[in-house]
Amino acid sequence: MEIKELYIPESNTKTRPRIEMKPAYITIHETDNTEKGATAKAHANFQYKGNDRQASWHYTVDQEDIYQSLPDNEVAWHAGDDRGPGNMQSIAIEICVNEDGDFEKAKANAAWLVTYLLFKHQIPIENVVQHNKWSGKNCPSHMRENGWDAFIQLVKGCSTN
Ligand SMILES: [Zn+2]
Repeated sequence: MEIKELYIPESNTKTRPRIEMKPAYITIHETDNTEKGATAKAHANFQYKGNDRQASWHYTVDQEDIYQSLPDNEVAWHAGDDRGPGNMQSIAIEICVNEDGDFEKAKANAAWLVTYLLFKHQIPIENVVQHNKWSGKNCPSHMRENGWDAFIQLVKGCSTN
C-alpha cells in the first residue's frame, strides 16, 4: 500500500516535540471516533492543522488509506506513560472506527502496515502491543473485547506472504 505523508509542521512543538527515537515497539490504538467521515485523512488533517491537546501519533489507518503524521524516528505523545517506553520508544498506529467505514478492512490495512514496520525496524512481533499496556486505558477497545489475537494472526499472515 501507499503511505501518504502529511507531517505535522515542525513549528508545532506541542505535538511534534522533535525528540529522536529508535522504535522498539508498535502501539495499536483505535480512534474511538465513530462519527461519519472520521477517516484516516480527516485525522491526518486534524493533526496537520494543530491539535490543541498534547496528543499525537504516527499513523492513521482506515479501509482506504494510510496517513503518516510523524517520521518513525520521532517521539509522539500517545501512550499516556509520560516519558516511559510507550511514548519514547513506540510507533503509534490509530485505526479508524468511523461508522461509515469498514473496520475489518481497516484492521487488514493496519496489519499490513505493522508488518512493514516490523521488517523495516527489525522489531519482534512480541513488541506489537496495545495502548492498554502503557497506561491501562481501554484501547484499542473493540479489539480488546474481540479480535486482538486475530489481529496478531493477520500480521503473521502478512509477513509470510
Ligand atoms: Zn489509544
